[in-house]
Amino acid sequence: GNPAIIPEVSAVFAEEIQQLLDAQSLTSTLGYYSTPQGDSEFIDVIATFLNQRYNWGISSKNIMLTNGSQNSFFYLFNLLAGNMPNGSHKKILFPLSPEYIGYMDLGLSDDMFTSNKPSIDMLNEQQFKYRIDFDKLKISDDIAAICVSRPTNPTGNVISDAELLKLDQLAQQHNIPLIVDNAYGFPFPGAIYTEARPHWHENIILGMSLSKFGLPGVRTGIMVANENIISAMSSINGITCLAPNNLGARIVTRLFSDTDNKVIALRDNFIRPFYRAKMEKALDLAKTVFTDLPVLIHKPEGAFFLWLWCQNLPVSSRELYQRLKNRKVFVIPGEDFFVDIDEDWAHQRQCLRINYALDDKQLERGLYIIAEELKTLYAE
Ligand code: PLP
Repeated sequence: GNPAIIPEVSAVFAEEIQQLLDAQSLTSTLGYYSTPQGDSEFIDVIATFLNQRYNWGISSKNIMLTNGSQNSFFYLFNLLAGNMPNGSHKKILFPLSPEYIGYMDLGLSDDMFTSNKPSIDMLNEQQFKYRIDFDKLKISDDIAAICVSRPTNPTGNVISDAELLKLDQLAQQHNIPLIVDNAYGFPFPGAIYTEARPHWHENIILGMSLSKFGLPGVRTGIMVANENIISAMSSINGITCLAPNNLGARIVTRLFSDTDNKVIALRDNFIRPFYRAKMEKALDLAKTVFTDLPVLIHKPEGAFFLWLWCQNLPVSSRELYQRLKNRKVFVIPGEDFFVDIDEDWAHQRQCLRINYALDDKQLERGLYIIAEELKTLYAE
C-alpha cells in the first residue's frame, strides 16, 4: 500500500522541515519525548481541524497518536478482543470481506477475526462491486467490535453513507464499537472518488494516518475515539514505546492549523486529482488488456488499488502470484484478504490486488504481463 511520491506535496513537506530548522524547533522535536498520548500541540490542532469541518464536538481527550495506524490497530484489536480476563473469547467482525490483509496477523490470541461474505453486484464495462450482505451479517455475543476500512484496501470499495449508518446502528444495538479505518478517506488524504462523508461519535473509533497523505516514513497514526479508549491506547503507547514519534506531527502542524487550509488545498489540488487520474488510467488500461479474458474489475471508488476477479481461474491466486513474481510482477494474491469464509467459495481464490500508485509505464507493463499469464493459464 505504498503511496506515490507527489512532487508538489513533497516540496511542501520539505518547506515545513526547513521551517522547523529555521524556528529552531527541531531541538524540541527531536530532543524530547511527548506524552504517551502524543504531541499535544498537534492533537489540539487536529481536534480543532475536525470540529471546524464536521462539528463532532471532540476535545484533545478524544485523540491519540501512534507510530502508524497499523500500530493503532494492533493495540485496538488486542485491547478489545482475544482471550479476555473473564475467560471469554472475543472476535473482531469484518462486515465486508475481503478486508485489509494487514489486520489478519494482528491478534495475540488465535481465531480473533471473522468476516461476512459479500453480495456481488455485476456492473457494466467489465466491472463488479461487493456490498455488505446485511441479511447474513450475524453479530453474536462473541463479537467485540465491527471493523471496516473505508475506502477498502484491497478492493477500492467505499461503503456508502447509508451502509455506514446501518453498521453504526447495529454496533450501538449490540453495545460494541464500530471501528472505521479511514487511512485513505476524508478529510485527508481524500483518495475517494465517490460521495462519502466521514462520521464520528463516541461509539465510533476512527483511524487516520499521515501515510497516504505522503508521509509513510514518519509513522504517524491518529486515532479518534471516546476518552476511555484513548486513555487505554495511550497507556499501551506508554508501555510499548513510552511515546509515539513526534516528527510527523511537527512537520504537518502548521499545515493543519493554517487558516488558509493548506491541508485541504494539498488534498484538492494535488493528492486527490493525482490518484483519481491514476485510477482512471489504470481502469482504462485494465479494460483494454483484459478485454478478451473472463476478468472483472472491482469498481474503483477509492484508495489506489485495482482488484481483479479472474473468473474460474484454473489455479489459485497464490499460484498466479508465484508465476507473476517469476516474471517480476508483484501483486497480492486475493485469498489472504478473506478470513474465516466458507472454504467452498471458490471466488476467494480467484482475485488479485494491484497497486496503481506507480509509474504509468510500469503499470502498463505489469498489466500486460498479467494478461499474458492469464491467457496462458486459461488456454491450458
Ligand atoms: N489501514 C489500511 C486500510 C491500510 O491500507 C494501511 C496501509 O497500507 C494501514 C491501515 C496502515 O497504514 P500506516 O500504518 O502507514 O498508517
